[in-house]
Amino acid sequence: MEFSSKLIEKAVNEISQLPGIGKRSALRLVLHLLKQPKEQTDFLSQALVAMRTDIKYCKNCHNISDHDVCEICANPKRNHELVCVVEDIRDVMAIEGTGQFRGVYHVLGGKISPIEGVGPSQLKISSLVEKVKSGLVAEVIFALSSTMEGDTTNFYIYKQIADSNIIMSTIARGIAVGDELEYADEVTLGRSILHRIPFEKSIKSN
Ligand SMILES: [Zn+2]
Repeated sequence: MEFSSKLIEKAVNEISQLPGIGKRSALRLVLHLLKQPKEQTDFLSQALVAMRTDIKYCKNCHNISDHDVCEICANPKRNHELVCVVEDIRDVMAIEGTGQFRGVYHVLGGKISPIEGVGPSQLKISSLVEKVKSGLVAEVIFALSSTMEGDTTNFYIYKQIADSNIIMSTIARGIAVGDELEYADEVTLGRSILHRIPFEKSIKSN
């Protein structure tokens, strides 16, 4: 792509670093911004800078938050003994969207994936194990997507906490294998949380 302006080229190069956006789409976005009032671009760039600078991770569940402790963890009406283990904020948003879950979350920040070079130590697993061992948890619900990576991660965590006296369950799968949680519709996902099954049963059925 030949640019008549280095400024445009630079903006296009930056935007095309984003997933799913090629140079052509990036150019379209840049030209769109140029047609808009300048404030539009100011708001966009300020929002991005503020997001990156001020974002926090909840020190309890590791979810992305505006505060040291997220609103879910800070809510006394939630059941803090019921912990739903998820991959990232998109899963929290999807499950919250069902309105069926009154417990709290533990956000791992990814899944174990040897192919992508993600090992257990890069995920928030040890803090979950600590939480369980401290006796503050009555039930852990595994709600990772049912991919190979999700199953591996579930099983790794399960082995770490298998000797504790808590209930371990997994969300019932109205969701096809390989589907990501965020794409499940709210009714199906809500139902699969309510009708969760014992984790050990889910291992045997595999
Ligand atoms: Zn939290």
